[in-house]
Amino acid sequence: MKILVLNCGSSSLKYQLIDMDTESVLAKGLCERIGIEGSRLKHQPTGKDDVIFNDYMEDHSVAVKMVLDALTNSEYGVVSSMEEINAVGHRVVHGGEYFANSVIITPEVIKAVEKCSELAPLHNPANLIGIDACEKIMPGVPQVAVFDTAFHQTMPERAYLYAIPYEYYEKYKIRRYGFHGTSHRFVSEEAAKMLDRPYDQTKTITCHLGNGGSICAVRNGKSIDTTMGFTPLEGLVMGTRAGDVDAAVITFLMEKENLTPQEMDTILNKKSGVLGISGVSSDFRDIEEASEHGNERAEMALDVFAYKVAKRIGAYAAAMNGVDCIVFTAGLGENSASTRRLICDYLNYLGVHIDSYNNSLRGKAVEISAPDSRVRVLVIPTNEELVIARDTKELLDK
Ligand code: AMP
Repeated sequence: MKILVLNCGSSSLKYQLIDMDTESVLAKGLCERIGIEGSRLKHQPTGKDDVIFNDYMEDHSVAVKMVLDALTNSEYGVVSSMEEINAVGHRVVHGGEYFANSVIITPEVIKAVEKCSELAPLHNPANLIGIDACEKIMPGVPQVAVFDTAFHQTMPERAYLYAIPYEYYEKYKIRRYGFHGTSHRFVSEEAAKMLDRPYDQTKTITCHLGNGGSICAVRNGKSIDTTMGFTPLEGLVMGTRAGDVDAAVITFLMEKENLTPQEMDTILNKKSGVLGISGVSSDFRDIEEASEHGNERAEMALDVFAYKVAKRIGAYAAAMNGVDCIVFTAGLGENSASTRRLICDYLNYLGVHIDSYNNSLRGKAVEISAPDSRVRVLVIPTNEELVIARDTKELLDK
C-alpha cells in the first residue's frame, strides 16, 4: 500500500509518498509560494536527483496536480500511475473537542474541521483546501485526517480548564487543546519500545523542541497535560513566540504603546521568544554561536529557554507522581547537545545524569542518560509523516 501524506499551509504544501510495506519514503517534496509570484516545487525522489519546477501554482489544486505529475513522471517519478496511490493522509492542525483520533474524511468530518477554523484561522482553512484539491483530482481515493490536537484529548479538566469565567469555555470553547500531538505520541511510543517497557505502564515526559516547542506528560500512553494551550502560543519560550506571560502584561502594553489586538498578536507570536530576548535571531544555531562569542543577551535567551523547559519537566514529574523517562525531539531537541545539557543540569534532583559521549551523537535514536541515572533520557527523531501514514493505513485496513 502506498500512501501520500500531505501537510498544507496557507501558501505551501509538503508531501511524502510512503510505501507502507516497508515504511520507506519513495519521494518527498515541498511546494512554496502557492498563489504568489515565484511559486516553486522541490521534488526529491529517493535514490534520484532532486528536481525543481518553477511553474506558477495558482492554488492548491494546481500544486496537488503538479505533485502527482512529478510522482508519476517516467524520469523522476516513483510510481507508474496515480492508481498506485491508495490513500491520502492529511495533517490537520485543529480538531477541537470533536476528534480524539484520526478519521476517514467524510462530509461530516469536513463540517467539523470547518467549525474548528475559528480556533486555528491560519491552519485549518489551508488544510481544508488541500483536502478539497485531492477530492477533485483523485476522486474516490480515501482520505484521512490526522489532528495535531487529538492526542491531547485525554487531558483531564484540571489540566485543560483556564481559571476564567466558565461561561467562556461554554460559549467559545476556550480551553487548553495542546499541539504537536502526533509527535508526542510517536516519540513516547518509540521510547517505550526502546526501553522495552509496556507503553501503558510508563510515565514519559516528551520535549518537542523546534522552532515551536511543547512538552507533554504522557502517563500510561495518554497525554495528561501539555504546555501549549488554546493556541500554540502558550508554554515554552520559542523561536519567536513568547510562551507564558502574565496576561496583565498584554493589556498594559496595548495601552502604553497604543497597539491593536492584531499588532499585539504579532509581537507575541513573531517578535518574542529567543528572538525577542536575544535580538539576534529566532534560530537557535545563530543564538548558540552568538553566545559562544560572548553575546550576553544570546546567553540569557538560552538560559531562560532551558530554565523554562526544566521547570516544566519538574511540574510534569509532579503531575504524574514520578517520571521514568524524558525524551528530546524536533530540530533543537534532536540536534543541540548543549541545550540538552543545559536542561538536564537543572534535573540532578530527579537523579538525571547525562552521558557526554552519547549526548554528542547525532541523527539517530539514542539513550543519552548515564547508567546511574534514575530517569532514562532519550533522543528520538520525530516522524509525524510516518504516523499520519500509519493511521491512514490502519483506518483503511479496518
Ligand atoms: P523544527 O521546527 O523542528 O524544524 O526545528 C527548527 C529549529 O531547530 C531551528 O530553528 C534551529 O533553531 C534548531 N536547530 C536545528 N539544528 C540545530 C543544531 N544543530 N543546533 C542547534 N539548533 C538546531
